Amino acid sequence: MKPPVLHLELTSKCALRCTECARTKYLEKIPIRELSVSVVENIKKSGKIFREVSLCGAHGDPIYHSNFHSILKILKDFPGQPLISIATNGSYRSEDWWKETALLLARKDEIIFAVDGLKDTLNQYRVNADWDSIRLGMETVKKFSRVRLIWQWILFRHNEHQLEEAGKLAKEWKVDQFLLLKSSRYSKESAEYPMRSTDFAQEEFRRGFDLSSL
Ligand code: SF4
Repeated sequence: MKPPVLHLELTSKCALRCTECARTKYLEKIPIRELSVSVVENIKKSGKIFREVSLCGAHGDPIYHSNFHSILKILKDFPGQPLISIATNGSYRSEDWWKETALLLARKDEIIFAVDGLKDTLNQYRVNADWDSIRLGMETVKKFSRVRLIWQWILFRHNEHQLEEAGKLAKEWKVDQFLLLKSSRYSKESAEYPMRSTDFAQEEFRRGFDLSSL
């Protein structure tokens, strides 16, 4: 039997207010918390083997944990050396912060940047996301490591026309994988259901990705 995946919700902190996120909708009810470093130490000491450790917040973004790098160092020392997967929007961290992150990760690890749109549309769903620092994060990660860089994009009506352009940027930023998602969360005010299919959108993305290499 394969070793299990360990999912750690590092923090309920987030700099964004994505319109259909439960955290945004129930902000008043969600206490701001961080997982204690000693909890991660104790999991390591238990000796249990995991094939992957996923840092993917349901109600927060892991990169805002105040001891993120200390936790990453402990995870890299876990028995069996599991794959580390970090899911984030990637806003507001500095070049030095991303460099330190990149240097701690190995080729088999991955960072998933959730970026649904380009500079002019990103904020329609990812309210308060910061395009320039996301870009800096992606470029720094690739500059200092061989970690797998994944661009995740939720398809909305306001971003479905930008896939070819996204493909060109992904090529430029050395993105390893593009993950196109269809959400079940839409509302008339904030995030309208896309008109185009995910297959069509993928095709558009691929066209940009290939064209830019000519
Ligand atoms: S980045 Fe994630 S946790 Fe933060 S508001 Fe958006 S969906 Fe919610």
